[in-house]
Amino acid sequence: MYEISPLLKALWARLVVASLLPVIVVTMMLYPFFAAYLEERLDGTRGAAEALLGAKYAVLLQDMNESFNQVLATAEFPLLRHYLASRQSALPPPAQDIESRRELKQLEALFNTLLTHFGRYTRLTLLDTHGREQLSSTTAQLQPVPPVVNHAATEAFQEAMQLQPRELYISPPHPGANSNGDGTKTAVIDIVTPVFDDNGVRLGVVFFALDWFRITASLSQAMEANHAQALLVDAQGRWLLPDTEGISFGETLATSWPDTWQAMTSRNRGEAGIGEQILWFRTHDIRMNHYRSQAGMIMSQPDTQPWRLGIVTPRPSLPGLLLENPAQILAIALVYLLSVAVGIFWVLSHDRQRSLRQRALLFSREARQYAGEVQDLYENAPCGYHSLDSEGRIVKINRTELEWLGYRADEIIDRRLYRDFVTPETREAFDAAFQQVLGKGQEGAAECELLCRDGTVLPVAIQATAQVTEDGFQYARTTVFDLSERKRLEARLERQAMTDPLTGLGNRRYLEGQAALEIARAQRSGAPLSLIAIDLDHFKRINDSYGHDVGDLVLQAFADTARGQLRDGDVLCRMGGEEFAVLLPDTGDDEAMQVAERLRQTVVATPVKVGGDVNEEGQLAYSASLGVTLVNAGETSLKPAIKRADQGLYIAKEAGRNQAHWQPV
Ligand code: GH3
Ligand code: MG
Ligand code: MG
Repeated sequence: MYEISPLLKALWARLVVASLLPVIVVTMMLYPFFAAYLEERLDGTRGAAEALLGAKYAVLLQDMNESFNQVLATAEFPLLRHYLASRQSALPPPAQDIESRRELKQLEALFNTLLTHFGRYTRLTLLDTHGREQLSSTTAQLQPVPPVVNHAATEAFQEAMQLQPRELYISPPHPGANSNGDGTKTAVIDIVTPVFDDNGVRLGVVFFALDWFRITASLSQAMEANHAQALLVDAQGRWLLPDTEGISFGETLATSWPDTWQAMTSRNRGEAGIGEQILWFRTHDIRMNHYRSQAGMIMSQPDTQPWRLGIVTPRPSLPGLLLENPAQILAIALVYLLSVAVGIFWVLSHDRQRSLRQRALLFSREARQYAGEVQDLYENAPCGYHSLDSEGRIVKINRTELEWLGYRADEIIDRRLYRDFVTPETREAFDAAFQQVLGKGQEGAAECELLCRDGTVLPVAIQATAQVTEDGFQYARTTVFDLSERKRLEARLERQAMTDPLTGLGNRRYLEGQAALEIARAQRSGAPLSLIAIDLDHFKRINDSYGHDVGDLVLQAFADTARGQLRDGDVLCRMGGEEFAVLLPDTGDDEAMQVAERLRQTVVATPVKVGGDVNEEGQLAYSASLGVTLVNAGETSLKPAIKRADQGLYIAKEAGRNQAHWQPV
């Protein structure tokens, strides 16, 4: 618990970073695309807006030019001129003048046709040079004659009276009556031009009132259809379109949106912010752009031109753009989700990889350590290890065995057959075992001897197992045990088993073993072989008189004395109790008897030192009886000879002891 908690915390922190980082990176990567997309959309909007504005404004201008032409054409209409000329002097109007009344009717018909046919005028008026209305038509009703209005004081009339033929004066749009006559508010533009006769005499003025809202309606409608709004203001910033949100006809932008107005007056065309929206605008002077009209010159009030027209559209925003297409939002959300998922996956897999790496590291460290230990064990094991190929060549060998043999690895590996190191005496056993390893059993063992570099021979036990794979026999893996210690132990046990511990002489078994060798040798060589049986006299008495320890001393003393009287090849042994025997190779009957006699005499002459506490002399004399015989050439065991020697010994005892008796075959 105590260790998991900080681990989990670290993992949690990494997960948070792995989620945030992709979001930041993806945003940073997407931002330029978003910005470019937005910019492109803005360009597109601007292009569309300007195109729309241009097209709609062209229509407006065309309508106005058409009106200009109609005004000019009307002013040059001969009937109208004639009528005005006839009205120049007549005061009051000639009600009874039939000619004039007919002309008036025709002019009225013309004005009514213009009104109804074009529908854009609210009022068509004809004035004489005094400003009196000679004819006035509205869509609502025909104005009565005689005139009821005198225009002499109006600016339009006064301006018109200054104009030359084919020159026009246009008033700024101003509030006026709707041509429908339904009372709804509208604005009108007055278009006026003078009328002259053929001689250039000024006859009057044609005065058309243009329904301004009507001819600008298409402008507004087209914009609305495109989520945009038209803007049209005069040189003072006065709003020239119907009332709209935030501004009414005649109000000035300079007070409603001073910043926007400031931007609009600083240049002829451009872009400006208006509230949360964006405005593209340009400047147009109606007086300059009448190339399609027949007008000579167009006059207007000096502070009204040029107009500024524009289009206001919502400013494109990223959320707005995205909302246009929900699939985009879905795609972007997917990109974010994917990046976060990748981040989290990376952290988790990284975490797992790290723990795997750590575990692998631990494993490899343990494996290395283990391999090192195994290698150490292999090299320095108390036994030899080697591997042989199918030909018996050494392909691998450990340090222990190399030290036994006294060679370096490079002198042996891949160079020598193991067989070469086996003594010729034991080579057969080795070969047999190796064949077994190669064969079906795939296991083999042998005891043999190794020939070491220094000439010594090392007894070993070899145990081999074949290493076999799908490809067949690979090598024989062999363990070699040093048997020298065991051999030494066996030899010692063997020696002990055949040695009498009290006197250090060989025992009866030893004699039998030696006898077998000597009998065989005697048979081969034909040399005689003699046997002497010895029994100490009255030994029981010594024991009884001086104790068992003194008896032992006497037995040891006899062994020493007898050894001193015999040759190296003679085999002296203790047969048991106080009985001894001597096997004499290459010794005939006489010679054997001489040895026996000499032995008897020496014993008698050599008392045993026993110390002052045993007897007064400090030494003890004793004697022995001996039976002597020959081992017969036909005898394969020592038994018959022993029997004969014992018979001789018995006779010697019987004869009074301390003598040697020859017992013939
Ligand atoms: P004889 O002259 O007829 O041979 O008489 P003996 O007393 O020597 O004959 P006997 O065979 O009756 O006695 C042998 C004695 O030797 C009996 C036994 O106690 C003693 N003896 C046998 N082995 C040992 C020994 O290892 N140490 C000692 N001190 N005495 C032994
Ligand atoms: Mg005895
Ligand atoms: Mg005895």
